[in-house]
Amino acid sequence: MSNCIFCKIVAGEIPSRKVYEDEDILAFHDINPAAPVHFLIIPKKHIPTLADATPEDIPVLGKIMAMAGKLAQQEGCADGFRTIVNTGRVGCQEVYHLHVHILGGTQPLGPML
Ligand code: 5GP
Ligand code: ZN
Repeated sequence: MSNCIFCKIVAGEIPSRKVYEDEDILAFHDINPAAPVHFLIIPKKHIPTLADATPEDIPVLGKIMAMAGKLAQQEGCADGFRTIVNTGRVGCQEVYHLHVHILGGTQPLGPML
């Protein structure tokens, strides 16, 4: 998607502070962190929202979840972390390229649910 900010980050057209990259996924720090540790994990493939995911996306979505703990630990989330996927207008999604937020660190975030 040529006008997608996260596709541009994948393509290296917009710089990012990378946490992890392989052929399927990219993890990078959020530009406006909401916690001491705040990074995003995205599929390199442009999937607009979680509601657009299809069975063919299961491997990449599984990889994102399977990598989350390791990357969070690596970034300093020793005591756990919060995982958020905002979906669509009601879900307060701002960037329409599927991403998983990883939030952690020492600052208490407070209960959300
Ligand atoms: P959403 O509300 O869509 O779940 O969250 C989008 C997130 O992307 C926000 O936390 C925002 O700070 C982050 N973001 C938006 N533009 C950029 C960017 O150009 N670079 C980085 N690293 N993060 C971005
Ligand atoms: Zn995209």
